[in-house]
Amino acid sequence: MSLRTFRNGIAGCVDENSIVGFAVEPGERKERSGLPSLASSLDTLLELRAGAKGSEYPRPDDDQSSADASACGEEEDESVVSPGQALLAKLKAEVQVTLEEKLFPKVDEKYRCPLCPFRAFAKLTRVSQHIAKYHTVKVQFCPSGTKQVKLLLALYDEDCMRGKDGQNYLQRSSDTLRQTVAPSLLSSRTDIDKFIRIVFTAAGPVYRNLDALTDGEPLRRVRNIYYTRCFAHLVVREMLLCNAKATWLKAMIPRVTQEAVARNCLTTSLLPSNVKDWWPIVEDIFTSPRLSDRKDSLLQEAVQHEEFVAISIDATMRCSQVLTVRGRTNAVLLLHAVPSEAAEVIVTALAELPAHALAQIQFIASDSPSSALARQLRRVCPNLVMLSLDPVHLAFAWEYSTWKKRTPGSKALRAVLSKLSVRDPQATAEHWGCVYEGTAPPELTPREQAQRDRIKDGGMPLRAAKQTLHTMDYSVPFYDRMEIVKAFAALSALYPEEVAKAALGANAGSQADDGVLSGLVNLAVLKALELRGGA
Ligand SMILES: [Zn+2]
Ligand SMILES: [Zn+2]
Repeated sequence: MSLRTFRNGIAGCVDENSIVGFAVEPGERKERSGLPSLASSLDTLLELRAGAKGSEYPRPDDDQSSADASACGEEEDESVVSPGQALLAKLKAEVQVTLEEKLFPKVDEKYRCPLCPFRAFAKLTRVSQHIAKYHTVKVQFCPSGTKQVKLLLALYDEDCMRGKDGQNYLQRSSDTLRQTVAPSLLSSRTDIDKFIRIVFTAAGPVYRNLDALTDGEPLRRVRNIYYTRCFAHLVVREMLLCNAKATWLKAMIPRVTQEAVARNCLTTSLLPSNVKDWWPIVEDIFTSPRLSDRKDSLLQEAVQHEEFVAISIDATMRCSQVLTVRGRTNAVLLLHAVPSEAAEVIVTALAELPAHALAQIQFIASDSPSSALARQLRRVCPNLVMLSLDPVHLAFAWEYSTWKKRTPGSKALRAVLSKLSVRDPQATAEHWGCVYEGTAPPELTPREQAQRDRIKDGGMPLRAAKQTLHTMDYSVPFYDRMEIVKAFAALSALYPEEVAKAALGANAGSQADDGVLSGLVNLAVLKALELRGGA
């Protein structure tokens, strides 16, 4: 994106007044008089508050933006690197000064070009000729190739971020390359791109000698990028810390960068800044033999602890549809991208679990149980005893409408729902009777029907509603259908706004979930049916 396009985009958006722009290139800043110093503008940034008015900086005229535009260009496509005008001017000056001073270090009987990492000559005069002939504007003053350019850009970025007006970027990038590329490359080579590769380490990205990549610690390769085991550990750790949420990758990049900065890395800009460039790396790490072995052994351990005896499955639509399977103690046993919530899709995904794990499954909770789903599940879970409605799912749907925050209403709902998970040691299987088979339910009594209508209209008198929830014994299960229907009618009367919002939110948020209101109604009925099923 060119800076002009970017500015036009900003000028055209409603949030224009809350966007702050600031320059990080000290070189540019000097040339433009009238701008405050970097230090003072950084102070201003620290003092910024949302909703402040007015513009602190004069708007730069759009005509002189070509330099910045090219500097932004390398964000777009990381294979193309083009330093901005300010940096090019520095490189040009560096080449000139080097030509004038003629201070060429003598190494192994040869005179080295100070601007190249390895290029050296037997005769002193050849160095000047080389510099004059090859360190030209055409190749951005850097004839060794784009990798050195990327490196010096990273050094320059680092200086800009620290507010330093640095120089000698050709020399400094050459020094850095000589430190990390071992053994040294032939001094007769000018273009070195083909002979070095970037390696991501936990301490930051470095360039190494391609021929010696396999000599040291083992590396994995994805595309043209190599990474160390420590780097993979870091990525895995950061992903776990970010809870592997949908936005984790964006959050992880600065954290991985920060880790490198903490280890005095000056070239963190060499790490990809674009999320799309991280995906292949992350995918490679997570499909590596080491991690898939680890996953297998964790699953094995879960089987040993009978985690699969009772599982809950959920394929709720979030940013993409993912089937989540949790075990008896809530351990995540399977995460699988699925195209839909159809029974056969769920069954196919479940079939990926090891056979002995599937054999362990006896109870499955789902947010949309049906006799059809139960039939399909028996095909892969030979020992399945019961499929039931997930008692917690409704609370998730409710809290989905309140930005996943617990509210008085959702707390009350969770308390009510907890009764569905409580066990009464006295009430044996005989007490509960046969399992509800999903067939035609016993009719609601007129009293039950009347209370059920109160769930929908919130019409239970407030006193009665409070009384119902206060006097309820949360340490024992529900024993009859009426009790459940009344509890939900009470919730509906006490928290009408939350119920309305949750009903709306759940409907807007996903097609897979019915509204919370109908959820309440259905849960009340379904659970009640489970109770009454054998009666
Ligand atoms: Zn050179
Ligand atoms: Zn769900």
